[in-house]
Amino acid sequence: MSDVRTEQAVSAAATAARGSTGPGKVFLVGAGPGDAKLITVRGMEALEQADVILYDRLANPRLLDYARDDAERIYVGKMPDRHTLTQEEINVLLVEKALEGKTVVRLKGGDPCVFGRVGEEAEALAAHGIPFEIVPGITAGIAVPAYAGIPVTHRDVNATVAFVTGHERPDKETSSINWAKLATAVDTLVFYMGVGNLPFIVEQLLAHGRAPDTPVAVIRWGTLPEQETVTGTLATIVERVRAAGLKPPAITVVGDVVRLREKLAWYEKKPLFGKRVLVTRARAQASDLSRLIAELGGEPVEFPVIRLVPPRNPAPLDAALDRLGDFDWVIFTSTNGVAFFFRRLRERGIDIRTMARARVAAVGPKTAEALEEKGMRVELLPQRFDGDALAEALAGKVKAGDRVLLPRADIARKALPEALRALGAEVTEADTYDNVIDARGADEVAALLREGRIHVVTFTSSSTVRNFVEALKDHDVPALLDGVTVACIGPVTAKTAEALGLRVDAVAEEATIEGLVRAIGGGAR
Ligand code: SAH
Repeated sequence: MSDVRTEQAVSAAATAARGSTGPGKVFLVGAGPGDAKLITVRGMEALEQADVILYDRLANPRLLDYARDDAERIYVGKMPDRHTLTQEEINVLLVEKALEGKTVVRLKGGDPCVFGRVGEEAEALAAHGIPFEIVPGITAGIAVPAYAGIPVTHRDVNATVAFVTGHERPDKETSSINWAKLATAVDTLVFYMGVGNLPFIVEQLLAHGRAPDTPVAVIRWGTLPEQETVTGTLATIVERVRAAGLKPPAITVVGDVVRLREKLAWYEKKPLFGKRVLVTRARAQASDLSRLIAELGGEPVEFPVIRLVPPRNPAPLDAALDRLGDFDWVIFTSTNGVAFFFRRLRERGIDIRTMARARVAAVGPKTAEALEEKGMRVELLPQRFDGDALAEALAGKVKAGDRVLLPRADIARKALPEALRALGAEVTEADTYDNVIDARGADEVAALLREGRIHVVTFTSSSTVRNFVEALKDHDVPALLDGVTVACIGPVTAKTAEALGLRVDAVAEEATIEGLVRAIGGGAR
């Protein structure tokens, strides 16, 4: 690149980064085949920067969670009850938003260049002098078979593969597909958009010499909990797909590689395969649980009904922090308590060494870990992980007259301070953070539940249950949860759920994230 061009490119990038005048940039991003993790790193970067996101039906809406809260999200896919934007209208929208100086992401299922009409969108942008970038994605034609245990090539089986649109109208005068050559020239044929036309496709292949016993697989909603595969041969597949009632979207694979599925199917064998699991805990806490669910083959959907904020009234906490040297014990009951405690210490400019006298206890291993990361040694960690067990464990240690600080949430249970007071301790309770309800996304979640697309709902604390019910107060919650597995992290949470009229199906044996995942069937790894 010449120096001048380099210079121009650098200043354009800098202008874009400053968000100043001139047209914005458009990223034409491949969202991958379905599983939200199958997006590229570059695609994620684009989503994180976007001011506006245009997405359609095949792009996993979970990907929008990576966008900024204030990003404008525009659905441009087909909806049964709504006007569908034409390709021209989408092109115009892209151009308009970019001319407003916005960074725009056009999020498309799979790879934008494979039956994705990205060419038309890029042409419209180029015609207006709008800078754009194409971010490739993993195309359904490769990923969907892979998730069904079918590699589209195998050294011992085939040397060629073709991607074919199955959408062509059978009544089209002259086909743009040369069936006579295609039928036998290419080993593996991968058809997109071919479910409706399957009888026609099969007929063409057979008429042009492909053997009737050629294996075929039709895979619907690949890489997602709904993944469903019907296999057969060119002779049997039409009838089998009809009998199974398989509908679009699906990928059809024709060729001997399909046989490999018998040995190589892997995704469907994961313990949580087929389960879309609602995670209701606060966003900052959700990741451990979400990661584990995904690891085990489920799809986590985050609906963080709780937001943690600094206490509305910080005075009691501040008063306690000012006299940290007075305490014999500081007992932390959650990782959040630890995080907000240290955050306030820092804000107030208080040195942790003023707490040197105090002994430190934690309610569970995660809380202990958080404290140890801060360089504090935890002296006491009960065997069972709830407030009652902690009170029991403290009984031998806390003496009458000991001064105990409990930095905790505004809605913490009373059992622990009461038990400590019964031991004769002088207990100071200080709200370290408040739980506020976050009802954003409630209607979307209600719709997913109503459509049967969420299979498990998890609750990791009583407040997640209360906030969930409150967030969905305009809906009939027990009806929405009909047929859905309700899983709670422990008996206290389960009791709260039952008191609020929910049926609880599973309670973790050990009140940890791992225990919860085991309770919903994620036991075997
Ligand atoms: N650009 C996309 C393809 C768009 S055409 C890509 O690269 O994947 C739309 C077709 O893709 C659907 O009709 C279907 O055949 C296929 N498809 C997309 N996602 C799919 C999925 N998760 N499971 C099965 N087929 C899928």
